[in-house]
Amino acid sequence: ENLKLTEPPEKTAPKIPKKKIDVVAEYEKLKSKRKENANLIVIGHVDAGKSTLMGRLLYDAGVVDERTIQKYKQEAEKIGKSSFALAWVLDQTGEERARGVTIDIAVNAFETEKGRFTILDAPGHRDFIPNMIAGAAQADFAVLVIDSSPGEFEAGFNIRGQTKEHALLVRSIGVQRIIVAVNKLDLMKWSQDRFDEIKQQLSQFLATAGFQSKNVSFIPCSGLTGDNIVRGPEAGLIPWYTGPTLIQELETAKPVAKAVEKPLRMTITDVYRGGVTNPVTISGRIEIGNVQVGDIIVAAPGEERAQVKGIEVDNEATDWAVAGNNVQLHLTGIDMDHLKIGDVVCHADNPLVPLKEFEAKILAFESLTPMVIDIHRGRLNASGRITKLIATLDKGNGTVTKKKPRHIAPGSLAVISISVTGVPLPLEKGSKIVLRADGLTVAAGVLA
Ligand code: GDP
Repeated sequence: ENLKLTEPPEKTAPKIPKKKIDVVAEYEKLKSKRKENANLIVIGHVDAGKSTLMGRLLYDAGVVDERTIQKYKQEAEKIGKSSFALAWVLDQTGEERARGVTIDIAVNAFETEKGRFTILDAPGHRDFIPNMIAGAAQADFAVLVIDSSPGEFEAGFNIRGQTKEHALLVRSIGVQRIIVAVNKLDLMKWSQDRFDEIKQQLSQFLATAGFQSKNVSFIPCSGLTGDNIVRGPEAGLIPWYTGPTLIQELETAKPVAKAVEKPLRMTITDVYRGGVTNPVTISGRIEIGNVQVGDIIVAAPGEERAQVKGIEVDNEATDWAVAGNNVQLHLTGIDMDHLKIGDVVCHADNPLVPLKEFEAKILAFESLTPMVIDIHRGRLNASGRITKLIATLDKGNGTVTKKKPRHIAPGSLAVISISVTGVPLPLEKGSKIVLRADGLTVAAGVLA
């Protein structure tokens, strides 16, 4: 009996027959019928009202029942912070609640008649930027929450504020669409002047950050009162505004088209023991390609093989899944130790081979020279060096403005060479990376 238990799992686990489904064809057939899931990341300065706004969305969209919200209200009142009840709707542990900050990326989903949304809640605290990066790499669009109250917009928008840093960061790792929630307008008596002022300043900044104006929108709202979030504003409250509510705007912001026919790439966001029938389960969002039951996979940079025994998309069992789906994969033939959060799941016959040297197109947040850096890809990171500054580029059309610059100024777009000196990182062309040095995000971009 003891011997049997210590045998390697591949010997005891039965092989799963593959159904040989033409996943791309099946996906095309279903596409028009299924509501597509859009992932949104919530960004903005600390205390801008991100958690409250998201809690409001989930509550008004009917995800949270009345009893739960009443319980949160009572708990919040007990500690004298009744307005926190909505923020607690986002799934947080008691410890995080007690500290009053959102630590890791909490995931919450809701559905409307027209769409399905997964909220990747970004923490507002400076130290948590690496967690935000992991979310931003998976986002279809960003909701930038702005505190419109006196001095607060300005504080978030200044050089040390997070409004700019977050917006630049999500744009530089590929997010094209941004919805600006001009929040807490209840505190401004729904002033059109204030709304216009914020809109004007932010439009200018977002344009220089590389967002096309057709991909930027501004919604006046209050997460706390719920005006113009899911329901329209109370009668006559915003007489000057005739545009959409926040949720209507989310519904029109379609997720970007996914490459379902390319080699499978899925970053693992969780690994857990699923019980007797499903010994090892991993979850994540398929970024590229497709997977079906019976497939043999590896989790790069690891090389251990596993077989996909079962698939769940949004907690429903299915035979296959494609890019854009949030999935759970039940695996056989592999030990949990070989699967790590941040690893990239690939088909065993088309694995991602970690790079030691590469070029990347990046946006600089700080001045860059050949220097020591940390390279972040999702939740993984490794030490490395900027080895060469190849060129700076025009932000509008991407043409070379200067070859071999001596340094790269903050705010510039550039191509640089990087070498990985630490552990191998699963990186390939198109991978989204963030470079940090001395606890600061110094650049972010995409592998060329
Ligand atoms: P986060 O740090 O961005 O997640 O901000 P929170 O959601 O925790 O909100 C910070 C504070 O602002 C809390 O005290 C909220 O109750 C308050 N707040 C959030 N949204 C609004 C709003 O729309 N109007 C008003 N008046 N207060 C708000």
